[in-house]
Amino acid sequence: MVTLVFLGAPGAGKGTQAQILKERYNFLHISTGDILRAEKEKNTELSKRIREIMEKGELVPDEIVVQVLKENIKDLDAKNGIIFDGFPRTVRQAEMLEEMLKEKNLILDKVFFFEVSKDKVIERLSKRLICKNCGKIYHLKNMPPKVDGICDDCGGELIQREDDKEEVVENRWKNYLEQTKPLIDFYSKKGILVRINADLEKEETFREIREILNLK
Ligand code: AMP
Repeated sequence: MVTLVFLGAPGAGKGTQAQILKERYNFLHISTGDILRAEKEKNTELSKRIREIMEKGELVPDEIVVQVLKENIKDLDAKNGIIFDGFPRTVRQAEMLEEMLKEKNLILDKVFFFEVSKDKVIERLSKRLICKNCGKIYHLKNMPPKVDGICDDCGGELIQREDDKEEVVENRWKNYLEQTKPLIDFYSKKGILVRINADLEKEETFREIREILNLK
């Protein structure tokens, strides 16, 4: 079993690639974005706070992310591999992940850094749709659903994420540069960083990942 982190800007394709590994190779896909989106729909003080932070495109504080993450993951060794998608996003979170994995006798094998241009990000996010029910990702042009507005997998309603609107995307990009990019250096020093060309079409990017992971 392999343990991976998918690191990169919003819209780099981390969720899309994780989705492929989940569907074709039975990987466990852990997306803190998905977990927090579910959390913010609840009716608690914490969910209200999370909602306000996410709407602005800011990062949720490290302690909260890790707390919610821990509440949502149980069995980590049930699949061929584990993907942490969008986590860690700060150096502090990376340290906390290390501790979490240690407690479960796991080590982080590889960190895929999805290298993508800002133009590509804007193009992808402005046309991205997600299923309100299961979180599956679509793109109006590149990965449209079979039936307009409806999820192929679960029949749920497809919506544009509030934070995929242009003004918020700018802020997410800024936060990515300031808080998440330092992780490239952090993991590079550990010798586990792998750079992936995320400007390509999804199947081409997937081919790179598949080769690195030696998957058939
Ligand atoms: P994503 O779906 O990964 O683009 O995440 C959507 C939003 O959820 C981000 O813009 C943050 O507000 C929040 N979020 C997701 N993952 C994290 C994380 N690891 N640390 C802090 N905030 C996060």
